Amino acid sequence: MKQVNADIVTISELWSGVYLLWAQAPEIAALACPGQYVMVRCGDGQDMPLRRPLSVHRISQDNRVAFLLAVVGRGTEWLAQRREGDSLDLFGPLGNGFEIHPSSQNLLLVAGGIGIAPLAALAEQAVTTGRSVTLLIGDRTLSRIYPGHLLPSGIKPVIVTEDGSLGAKGMATDLLPQFIPGADQVFACGPLPMYRRMAEMRSQFGGKPVQVLLEAVLGCGVGACLSCTVETKQGQKLVCKDGPVFELSEIVWEKAVAPSCRRRC
Ligand SMILES: Cc1cc2nc3c(=O)[nH]c(=O)nc-3n(C[C@H](O)[C@H](O)[C@H](O)COP(=O)(O)OP(=O)(O)OC[C@H]3O[C@@H](n4cnc5c(N)ncnc54)[C@H](O)[C@@H]3O)c2cc1C
Repeated sequence: MKQVNADIVTISELWSGVYLLWAQAPEIAALACPGQYVMVRCGDGQDMPLRRPLSVHRISQDNRVAFLLAVVGRGTEWLAQRREGDSLDLFGPLGNGFEIHPSSQNLLLVAGGIGIAPLAALAEQAVTTGRSVTLLIGDRTLSRIYPGHLLPSGIKPVIVTEDGSLGAKGMATDLLPQFIPGADQVFACGPLPMYRRMAEMRSQFGGKPVQVLLEAVLGCGVGACLSCTVETKQGQKLVCKDGPVFELSEIVWEKAVAPSCRRRC
């Protein structure tokens, strides 16, 4: 991991409150794997002493790294107001990312809302290594669906919206039974209710490995502050250091707490 200053190359609002930001960050681009994240300093560091975690969304061959960020509070609001040429203080890459098993040829990726952020990098890596990728993208409505032309080429996107304004009507998890049989491995990123539903459907996965990226309110990103504990079958683990990617079956979902129920100090 490194601490670097990265110049913003482009920043644009993809849909209301969600921004795509590309930064020139060769050190991060060289080290980062899909599912890993960086801690971003927001503000002057005094009004917001704690960095904010963002997943690596894309890595370009010319040493740029993209982040997809949803504005939810002060830190992400500050980030959304940055402009081309501004410098960002990044620390990373951090955490344990997704792991594609060597024998897995057909991958099923499940993105709930902003959960597309880390899965785009994974999809790109999988296609580059000759795998087949089906990407289920679910959100509330058409205007919140990630633009198709920005998706990595070569993947098969399947859209589902809660109001039926684009693709199938319902939740991404509703389509899982249809796609699980053709998958060797499943990867997901989304809100806690999506994971809880997937955990309830565990028997339908037929023992296939299912990796999920957990979000939590992180304080430090290096396992020092112990603010991001999650209960697993092997005891308490830290989202920042042991994760953020875990096996679905490893987490005790009854005890998992949504980030919005925790307070950042
Ligand atoms: C490993 C990891 C990767 C992440 N990757 C991304 C990403 O790629 N894109 C992205 O937009 N966000 C991502 N997040 C979430 C992002 O870090 C938070 O939304 C952000 O830190 C909020 O900071 P803030 O100052 O804007 O909000 P705050 O002022 O700190 O909080 C505002 C509200 O947001 C809630 N909140 C805080 N943290 C989170 C969180 N982790 N998830 C959901 N709600 C939260 C708070 O409880 C509060 O209700 C990731 C989180 C983790 C742990």
